[in-house]
Amino acid sequence: MASKKKIGLFGGTFNPIHLGHLRGVEEIREAFHLDETIFIPSAIPPHKSVEEIIDAKHRLEMVRLAIASNPYFSISDIEISRPGKSYSIDTLRHFREGCADAFFFILGGDAFVEIETWKDFQNLFTFCHFIVMARPGFQKTPVATQLPGSLTPAFQYDLETKAWVHLSGYHLYFKEISFLDISSTKVRELIERGDSVKYLIPPETETYIHKHGLYRKRG
Ligand code: ATP
Repeated sequence: MASKKKIGLFGGTFNPIHLGHLRGVEEIREAFHLDETIFIPSAIPPHKSVEEIIDAKHRLEMVRLAIASNPYFSISDIEISRPGKSYSIDTLRHFREGCADAFFFILGGDAFVEIETWKDFQNLFTFCHFIVMARPGFQKTPVATQLPGSLTPAFQYDLETKAWVHLSGYHLYFKEISFLDISSTKVRELIERGDSVKYLIPPETETYIHKHGLYRKRG
């Protein structure tokens, strides 16, 4: 019988993908011994204004180019091909259905602080493990303040694994990563101004952006 694989799921707008995303997920992959990590670009993210988000086909292609050289990384168009808004709970349901592998949903600390606004957020933790990429210094945060209040009744802190354990048995880890101070917003602003984005995004992504004239100011 084939052994259970450990699979990371990393959703994002990736508008565009940058080295902060890639380095963070690479550190998580190594620390948690993940067999594969799937990047999942969202169609219409529920929490972002749609005007600034470029066509999904470009975002998908930029991720594809950016991860091509990493054998542990793959991409899924599940959210892009699903009509309507992209909700993580639907994506988790999709991956879990009929699959015995162990899934780890990866997200940044800035996304986690908004988790109470996610659709059906209490139920998210009944589908898989969660890994929050935390900024350096996070471990000094008092454990009691790491979770939003509405989640605390469903979790218990486990001193041995240094993780929160949900009633479902799934874990919620906070893992400090190097955290490169890069955001897609910053990359878009630089391109709009005509400034360099070298060493902030992968060269393949940069070439693609220039070839298609993306993020340049119109008019
Ligand atoms: P924007 O600036 O447009 O809001 P973003 O840079 O935050 O975008 P997203 O595609 O929205 O990028 O992020 C996808 C995931 O990656 C989120 O969980 C986010 O918290 C995380 N993330 C974003 N930037 C970094 C970074 N520099 N290091 C680690 N994780 C990051």
